[in-house]
Amino acid sequence: MPSRTSLQRPILWIATRNRGKTREFQSLLGNRWQVRDLHALPRMKEIRETGRTFLCNAKIKAMAVSRALPERLVLADDSGLVVPFLDGKPGVRSARFSGPRATNESNRTKLLKMMKKTPKNQRKAYFQATLVLARSGRVLGVQTGRVWGRITESELGNAGFGYDPIFQPVGFSKTFGQLSERTKDQISHRAKAAKGIRKLLSKYQGLAAATCHI
Ligand code: IMP
Repeated sequence: MPSRTSLQRPILWIATRNRGKTREFQSLLGNRWQVRDLHALPRMKEIRETGRTFLCNAKIKAMAVSRALPERLVLADDSGLVVPFLDGKPGVRSARFSGPRATNESNRTKLLKMMKKTPKNQRKAYFQATLVLARSGRVLGVQTGRVWGRITESELGNAGFGYDPIFQPVGFSKTFGQLSERTKDQISHRAKAAKGIRKLLSKYQGLAAATCHI
């Protein structure tokens, strides 16, 4: 039985199966929203991310999920790591960088291997997150955030997800894998993009609360 508080909070659907992203959104959006992701919709088909940009892929996810859940507010995030020295790789292929059966670990290993001989001053990289808020197949808003840093020579720490243990943000001597969730939530690409989306969401909060929950 859901608690009274959970019934009062409007639901925001996150178009992802990545639990790391969902956890970060819940913390970034605070307890005004009940965040649910695609684990709550096990029968939903996998969404093919065929776009060449973060924006295209975020829109593809936002459209697919918001059409499957009419009237619900849906937030899609397409994000990844961009290394200019590698012509932008892994980029939009970040999740599947090391192949169709890629894991976070195999992706990190592949990237470290590719950059084994890359000098310190060429190890610059950034994370980008592009967020699309949608409802019933209509885009309500788009926000993008970036955080610059460098790719370390080896893995450090095991917090976060994805490439966090090999990404050291500018101004810090630790990787996202070593920094606390709280620190990452203050400076990350997702945090920057979520700031703008939070403002927009407050406009729709009443509407989402009035929609029947499933
Ligand atoms: P998406 O689900 O297609 O957006 O893929 C995002 C991928 O980019 C993830 O699977 C990670 O590999 C990587 N990524 C995105 N954001 C982060 C982050 O905050 N930390 C570490 N890796 C990230």
